[in-house]
Order: sequence, then structure tokens, then C-alpha cells
Amino acid sequence: MTAELKTLIVNIAYLLSAVMFIFGLKRLTKVRTARRGNAIAALAMFVAIAATLVDLGFIDYRWILIGIAVGGAIGAVAAIRVPMTSMPELVAVFNGFGGGASTLVAVSVVWLDVIEPGKQGTLAAILNKDGSGGAVAITIALSVLIGAVTLTGSIVAYLKLAEKISGKPTLLPGRHAINALLVLACLGVSVYVGFITQTPAEAEVCMLVLCGLSLVLGVLLVIPIGGADMPVVISLLNSYSGVAASATGFVLNNNLLIISGAMVGASGLILTKIMCVAMNRSLANVVFGGFGADDSGGGGGGGEYVNVTSCGAEEAAMMLEDARSVVFVPGYGLAVAQAQHAVRELANLLESKGVTVKYAIHPVAGRMPGHMNVLLAEADVPYEQLVEMDDINPEFKDTDVAIVLGANDVVNPAAQTDKTSPIYGMPVLEVFNARTVFVVKRSLGAGFAGIKNELFERDNTMMLFGDAKKVLQSLTSELKESFAHAA
Ligand code: NDP
Repeated sequence: MTAELKTLIVNIAYLLSAVMFIFGLKRLTKVRTARRGNAIAALAMFVAIAATLVDLGFIDYRWILIGIAVGGAIGAVAAIRVPMTSMPELVAVFNGFGGGASTLVAVSVVWLDVIEPGKQGTLAAILNKDGSGGAVAITIALSVLIGAVTLTGSIVAYLKLAEKISGKPTLLPGRHAINALLVLACLGVSVYVGFITQTPAEAEVCMLVLCGLSLVLGVLLVIPIGGADMPVVISLLNSYSGVAASATGFVLNNNLLIISGAMVGASGLILTKIMCVAMNRSLANVVFGGFGADDSGGGGGGGEYVNVTSCGAEEAAMMLEDARSVVFVPGYGLAVAQAQHAVRELANLLESKGVTVKYAIHPVAGRMPGHMNVLLAEADVPYEQLVEMDDINPEFKDTDVAIVLGANDVVNPAAQTDKTSPIYGMPVLEVFNARTVFVVKRSLGAGFAGIKNELFERDNTMMLFGDAKKVLQSLTSELKESFAHAA
């Protein structure tokens, strides 16, 4: 095969794989088509790797094969064993690996390709084979900087989400000044390594210093963030890992890495924006805000509950018998209890008696975007019955019964009524407007944001204490019994 033919084939394969990535992403936007989208994206990655190996030509494949086998095995085990509720942790780890890989590749380019014994001059001059040395040196530095920040930032995010360290923000005195100094130092070292260094040894030291500073910066950027802001951070780190990969694409002169990195960067940023809007927080507020640092949990938090009414399944079933419209509000607890089939069964029973059933979906219910959609799709809940927050909120006033299933923060009225609450301003599902509200959860314990929920004290709210699956099963059997009696 001639060199031109090989380049042509590789470029066509890269183009094909970029197109498949785009189609894969598009299909991932709908639950119905998501599986196929995932498969298409995986195939695109396979084509990309195969084309890169062809491009590299005859090299020693042993380490590559070992890498593929070890990485593939870890990925497969993680995909099978990690529960859906722990997906944000898994995504955090994957982001970190992506950032780490970009850093290692960029550093290895400096060590293996550029700094050859006997060469002198700035890194830019050494790289300056075609007059683009300065730009390449800067992209190497950017790749190291963003990749290393992503690596340690994601590790901290993982540790917080997995509750291996406190999820609360750690607010160091003068943290903004320290971070600003670190960013300036990183940029300074990048410029120095690109344009001023005189020897390869100096360039090597600069790269190590840059790595060290960026790793520290990653930790410092994420430790002040906590509470309900963590999902936004994960999404932002996801975007960073894409930008780091894209910068590495420029370093390696690999078009596909530039394109796919840019897609990850852009989609991560779009998701970050969507989540910020869903939580009514500005990105700057998330990154600098120290959400949840206050132990009192803000005005809505802390204090004891008074005047809470609770009931059992039998009483609740009696009230459900008379309902004409029921809205289920799924949350994180529904996923923990794996109660998606149980809720579907109760919904089927109610529908068979002519009750209108809907499911209210909050954009950040659960622990990942789309969590509730995926969970309910697993139980074959008809897609049309899932109603987004903005559409269902006006309907609650005409709803007979709202059943909150393991949701807490996303139905907390304090977001609208209590200016001192940490979640004030976050749009919530207005279940409190329904005629009767049943809240199914195991205790009066707080949700992710760690704050009190005044919904539990409202006159039209009744707590139905217990595991969501067990409560739903009891409700179904109570209802079946009373329908049988009535027949
Ligand atoms: P919350 O975390 O606010 O509340 C979940 C509730 O579920 C808890 O109060 C808990 O109460 C209850 N629960 C737990 N296990 C069970 C069970 N087996 N049966 C019944 N109830 C149970 O969940 P929401 O979905 O309302 O809100 C999501 C929160 O997570 C938001 O603060 C959001 O910002 C955050 N977040 C969202 C992400 C996303 O992308 N969707 C990602 C990460 C965080 P009890 O212990 O009393 O049973």
C-alpha cells in the first residue's frame, strides 16, 4: 500500500467515525434510541482505534493489546457491576481517566519525540519543524494543564460523591486568590516552556512543574464545591476532559481526536448549562459558591419537624380509590428501592379503573440527568405519561393525589418560599398544589441537599413511611382487595 493510499483510507475511516459519533450522540438524546446510539458510538470508537493503528504502521503492538485488554476488562466489569445510582461516580472516574490520558500523552510527546539528546533551544524552537512550534508548545502545555486539572478534580468529585470524604464544601481562606495565583503560574510556565526555555532539561523541569501545579489546582477547584452542585461539576469536568483530548489531538496532529474531543467538550458544556438552568444557578455561582457549606442547611434546614401527619397503606388506598387523577413523582429513593416495576403495577391497576395517571419528571431528580426516564423506561412505562416539570406544574392544582416516591429536594417548597434556603430559586415540582400529597420515604431524613423539607408539614401532605417498593406493593394489594370487594 502506498503512503498516499494509506493516508486516504485512514482519513476516510476518521471521517466515518466522526459521522458515527454525531449520529450516536443524536440518538443518545432519547431514551428510546439511546441503546442504539451507544452501540453506534462504540463502533465509531472501534473504527477510530483500528484506523489509528493502521496509521501508525508496523509498531510493537504488545503494549497496545495489553492496554486494550486491561482497559476493556475494567470497563466491562464496571458497566456490569456499578448500579445506576452510582453512575455519577463512574462518570467522574471516567472523566478523570480521560484527563489523565491527555496529560500523559502530552508529556510523553515532550519526552519521546521532542527532547532528543543534543538538541538545544526553547520547546517551541525544538518543535518548530514547520514554523508552528510556538502553537504546538502551547497546545502541549494546555493539554497537560486541563488534563491534570480534570484528573485530580474528578478524583475529588468521585471521593465526595462516593462519600469517601465529606461531601460538604471545604472553604480555604483566600482560596480565590490562591487559585488565581496558581492559574497565573500555570500560564506563566506554559509561556516559559514554549518560548523562553533554553535547554531540553529546562523544558522537562517546566513540564513537571506545570503538571504539579495543575494537579494541585484540580483539587483546589473542586474541594470548595459540594451538595447539590456536584452533578454540575461532574458535567463540567466531563467537558474539560473533552477539551483536554481536543488539545491532545492538536499535539498529535490527529483530526479525529480534535473532533471527538470538541464534541465531548461542547456536549459537556451544554449539559452543564442545562443543569445550571434546572437548578437556577449560574455557573460562576456553582464554581465559586461553596453551596451547602452552612451546617444549618439554610433557612429551610436544620430544625425539627412539627405537625407531620402520617398514615398507613390501608388509609392511603382508601383515598386512592376515590381519585380520578394521580401523579407519581419519582426521585432518588425510587431508584434505590428499585421500585419502578412496583409503581408501574399500581399505575396499571389505577388505569384499569379509569384513573388518569402521569409521572412528573424533574430534570435533576435522582443522581444523573435522565435518571428517572431511564428507570421508568426499564419498567415499560409509556413514554407519553412522563411529563416534564414545566408542563406538569400547572396541572397539579387539578390533581387529586400526588404520590412522591423517594423524592425530596425536587419537591421542596422552600425553593420558592424561603429566601434563606440554599435551594432557593431552584425550580421544583409543585406537588403541594395537589389536593392530597402522599410522601413515600423511610424517615423524615433529608435528601441530597441535606435540608429540611417543609412539604412534610403541609396540611394536605401525609407521610407514608417505608421502603418505596414495599409501600407500593402494599398499596397495590390493598387496592386490589377493595376493588374485589366492591365488584
Ligand atoms: P433526594 O436526594 O432529595 O431525596 C431522596 C430521598 O429518597 C431521601 O430523602 C430518602 O429519604 C429517600 N429514600 C432513600 N431510599 C429510599 C427507599 N428505599 N425507599 C423510599 N425512599 C427512599 O432525591 P431527589 O430525587 O428529590 O433529588 C435529587 C437530588 O440529587 C437533588 O438535590 C439534585 O441536585 C441531586 N443530584 C442530582 C443529580 C442529577 O443529575 N439528577 C446528580 C447528583 C445529585 P429516607 O432516607 O427518609 O428514605
